[in-house]
Amino acid sequence: KDLDFEDNEEDLVTRPPVVSVMGHVDHGKTSILDAIRNTQFASGEAGGITQHIGASTVNINNKEIVFLDTPGHEAFTQMRMRGAQSTDIAILVVAGDDGVMPQTIEAINHAKAAEIPIIVAINKMDKEESDSNRVKQELTEYGLISEDWGGDTIMVEVSAKTGDGIKDLLEMVLLVAEMRELKANPNRDAVGIIIEAQLDKARGAIATVLVQKGTLHDKDYVVTGSSSGRIRAMFNSKGETISEAGPSTPVQILGLSDVAEAGDKIFAVEDEKTARAYADRAKEQKREERLIQKSN
Ligand code: GDP
Repeated sequence: KDLDFEDNEEDLVTRPPVVSVMGHVDHGKTSILDAIRNTQFASGEAGGITQHIGASTVNINNKEIVFLDTPGHEAFTQMRMRGAQSTDIAILVVAGDDGVMPQTIEAINHAKAAEIPIIVAINKMDKEESDSNRVKQELTEYGLISEDWGGDTIMVEVSAKTGDGIKDLLEMVLLVAEMRELKANPNRDAVGIIIEAQLDKARGAIATVLVQKGTLHDKDYVVTGSSSGRIRAMFNSKGETISEAGPSTPVQILGLSDVAEAGDKIFAVEDEKTARAYADRAKEQKREERLIQKSN
């Protein structure tokens, strides 16, 4: 049975966009993610402590945006190599005082290969030496032409330090998301992707799942790669216990038999026996692959 079956068009409803922040080291990816999270608390959201689960949901104009934390694009590339598509929109951070650098170009290439729209955040605009025109000029060489220069790439001047432009950036993300008409069926067994996974001494195997289709429930039986189990507890990015998670929701789950692998898909199935059967088959496949590798 194909657990990842296609849904009928009429079952699809709009879901929040999932965004990755990419760019050259020190251009401000982490700072921009922090600034984005801070807009939440400034706007009076009951926020407080965000738990690190590798992704977070941000509310803007009563709409949600999901940010994957993984700084840089290593994880993103790894997931893509495993055939997993986690991201809907890429924010490309370019420091206005440094311009296009090797990892900027890499990020552009990854986003293009994955056919993900790019929004450029020209960062550090609080610095006197920053020059957004220079950045725009450099980006034209890579096919990214700013809207105000007659192209179709949205470029926003921001400062992660002062917070200037961050709200505009988020509004542009929502605009691009709307144009993409991102949809999923919330009424089916959940399909998701493992964003992060580790072993916690006290709690056992922990995984952050981005639900992509369907709704994941507490107590669901799940399988990911050769690991299976029954969900023992689920938490959102605020660390709150939740009982269900629909499309585009990042959740941390407890209850897997082993540490999952980032980039692997995860499926909710009807019962324990089914979960085990899929996990055993994956184990068997791994064993065979290893044997083939050895004999080569
Ligand atoms: P990352 O490696 O891309 O995640 O970059 P970071 O977020 O760690 O930022 C690198 C450095 O640039 C840090 O020292 C930040 O404080 C600084 N930085 C980031 N954004 C801004 C900004 O908007 N203005 C200024 N002046 N400095 C910034």
